[in-house]
Amino acid sequence: MITAGVELGSLTAKAVIMRDGQIMTYSLIPVGFDAVATAHKVINKALEGTGLAFDGIEYIVSTGYGRVIVPFAQRNITEISCHAKGANWLEPSIRTVLDMGGQDCKAISCDGEGVVENFVMNDKCAGGTGRFLEMIAEVLNIPLEEIGEAALQSTNTIPFNTICAVFAKSDAIQHLRGGIAKSDILAGLHEAIAKRCLRLLKRVSIRADFTITGGISKNQGMVSTLTEKVGMAPLLCDDPQLVGALGAALFAAERYSGDVAISTGRVNYGYSDGTGEYFITVDNRRCDGCGECVLVCPGGVFSVARNDSDEPKAVVREALRQELAFACPGLEACRRSLPRHCHAVCPQDALGHSW
Ligand code: SF4
Ligand code: SF4
Repeated sequence: MITAGVELGSLTAKAVIMRDGQIMTYSLIPVGFDAVATAHKVINKALEGTGLAFDGIEYIVSTGYGRVIVPFAQRNITEISCHAKGANWLEPSIRTVLDMGGQDCKAISCDGEGVVENFVMNDKCAGGTGRFLEMIAEVLNIPLEEIGEAALQSTNTIPFNTICAVFAKSDAIQHLRGGIAKSDILAGLHEAIAKRCLRLLKRVSIRADFTITGGISKNQGMVSTLTEKVGMAPLLCDDPQLVGALGAALFAAERYSGDVAISTGRVNYGYSDGTGEYFITVDNRRCDGCGECVLVCPGGVFSVARNDSDEPKAVVREALRQELAFACPGLEACRRSLPRHCHAVCPQDALGHSW
């Protein structure tokens, strides 16, 4: 079985192609003005020299900021789920993922199967993102790939009270005019970003092992500052920028492998115990098996299976039924954090939550 994952981020595009559960090839390119052309380019680049044709890929899942515009993907899945999935495949002991991308930062807590248990994302402003660091590198006139190393050379970290892109830029310019060393300015900014990430991580609880994914994980200054703040060295994979695309390729393999039989009617999944009740209900008379809830759910709560009449229906995944409170942070949390959540995307109003 050959599957692929494509992550179309705000700054870079990545593709991972897997054959029978192993990584066969991958690619990483900058995102161009034409995002659709970028998606084609990144998958074709991964195919180069493999002897495999595009048509030989049996299932493709897209993820990332631009996942919905990858024209050849059969499905798209949130990068929250894909980063947890990919990180777990690379190192099953990972329980906490900090995804530091071009557009936002996400703290993700996952279980031993790489299923998201909780997440918090910071996408309200550019502070602390890849774009923010690009802007700072430009202001200081240092190549982006060198700013981490430069921060490590600091002898007198300059404190920054904000990493709001606008104020931090103006503070950095003022310090520069005041003769402060670039390394000290950068150390201060790295420190401020790390503190912000730490706050995100604490909100999902930091459990070993911990990893950092996304482009900023290649910045040694940031990794070093985060290690100090978190009090734990991250387990970094060979190329942390590929983790999301890898997760998407793994989801593609699962999706392609087929479904299991289920019952018909209205089904409650969950439990009632000393801590209370926790149920997700799927009304199978309404559900048409479109799979939208599967695609948006960051907790990987749903899959689509076939009932006795061979109709596709949403189900709560078997492995999660006794611990739904961990897999699903709750509808309110999803409403606050996600533009799209299970209830919002269900065209049949087939879902219910109670706890
Ligand atoms: S509220 Fe819905 S989308 Fe959010 S985690 Fe729970 S089941 Fe998934
Ligand atoms: S989004 Fe609604 S209709 Fe579609 S599979 Fe999920 S529950 Fe069924």
